[in-house]
Amino acid sequence: MNATKTQRAKTWLTKDKRPIVIAGPCSAETEDQVIETAKRLKATNKMDVFRAGIWKPRTRPNSFEGVGVTGLPWVKRVKEEVGLPTTVEVAKAKHVELCLAFDIDILWIGARTTVNPFAVQEIAEALRGVDIPVLVKNPINPDLALWIGGMERLSAVGVKEIGAIHRGFSNLGEKFYRNRPQWQIALEFVRQMPEIPILCDPSHICGRRDILQDVGQKAMDLDFDGLMIETHIDPDNAWSDAKQQITPEVFGKMITDMVLREDYEDNPVLQSKLDYMRQEIDHIDDELMNLLGNRMKVARDIGTYKKENNMTILQQKRWNDILEKAKRLSEERQLSTDFVSKFINAVHEESINQQEKIFKQK
Ligand code: PEP
Ligand code: MN
Repeated sequence: MNATKTQRAKTWLTKDKRPIVIAGPCSAETEDQVIETAKRLKATNKMDVFRAGIWKPRTRPNSFEGVGVTGLPWVKRVKEEVGLPTTVEVAKAKHVELCLAFDIDILWIGARTTVNPFAVQEIAEALRGVDIPVLVKNPINPDLALWIGGMERLSAVGVKEIGAIHRGFSNLGEKFYRNRPQWQIALEFVRQMPEIPILCDPSHICGRRDILQDVGQKAMDLDFDGLMIETHIDPDNAWSDAKQQITPEVFGKMITDMVLREDYEDNPVLQSKLDYMRQEIDHIDDELMNLLGNRMKVARDIGTYKKENNMTILQQKRWNDILEKAKRLSEERQLSTDFVSKFINAVHEESINQQEKIFKQK
């Protein structure tokens, strides 16, 4: 069954508030830093849940690996004295036990843990019979099944409130992002798991401050249910992820400046106009399919002709001409040449495959 986006908006995490915003430091460093960050965040009135890393999975050893259990009473103070719900990353059963002992409200599983089914299973076992929400970040590699598998392990032990976080995917040679977002994977996740709310973590996607706003906005435009953003009272001197953290005040402005478009499924007038425009799209898509079908039929006829006359499938000059023409037309049609070239390549590949089938026929 496909839950609509409006139904999704009513799931546990967002209740009647969308987007839900989680903010706080990458790492809890000192008691003062934790409390001051939380107070300044609360003052922005733009966030809902306080995050802090207590145990930090670092890429290289000898980096700061988190203050550990010492930091949990600080986070508990945030809940009791500042009045914010809290969330902490867990990577093993012991972390779960300690978080429960310190009344943490929501747990999250980090990208480096989601990749490891043993670790997720261990966490799940520690959560058997425990009623606490868990957010699952995507694994560092773009493997949708592994991400969903993590959630299945949790729901199998009875965890009822599960959410997802898109934090981008590790990509060798990537320069622009720290972890490149793969929106189509996140959207496919939503299609397959419509009842699970999904957040975006622009901080770990970007790894830098200057593009956080754009990435957060993109997630909002794609109807994500919320955001997780790293914030620090002195970002440049943060003990981890200094380059991507922002002050609570910059964070407040970022959220204020975000354009939040409504999901109008509840408004019949706006919805019917949209439905009408979508019908047009559906009609055009049908035509596209018919045209592609026709094109492939001609390609098969050409295949038969080439076979009968002992000609090669690919004739380079002809292919160059097709590409050149497509590029010229793309400008006139206001299409990017990159898109047109990918499209025409895909169509051409399918034609060749269809012709090859004919060549293989006895
Ligand atoms: C974090 O949120 O601080 C963190 C370690 O993130 P990720 O698991 O996305 O790398
Ligand atoms: Mn971090």
